Amino acid sequence: MSATTDLDETAPIFVQERSVPCDGGNGPLGHPRVWLRIADGAVVCPYCSRRYVLVGEAQEGH
Ligand SMILES: [Zn+2]
Repeated sequence: MSATTDLDETAPIFVQERSVPCDGGNGPLGHPRVWLRIADGAVVCPYCSRRYVLVGEAQEGH
């Protein structure tokens, strides 16, 4: 049996910059690209609910 769909949590996406683009990736959650700003360690895309987690040293600007 292969019933592995108990939980369908979206794995967090680890990024190293405070500004990250999100377009929903693939699948039905795709959406026009938006830029998300990580202000407190992590941000959740309001469109596709993907979670972006800031890792490493935060680099302001470029
Ligand atoms: Zn998104």
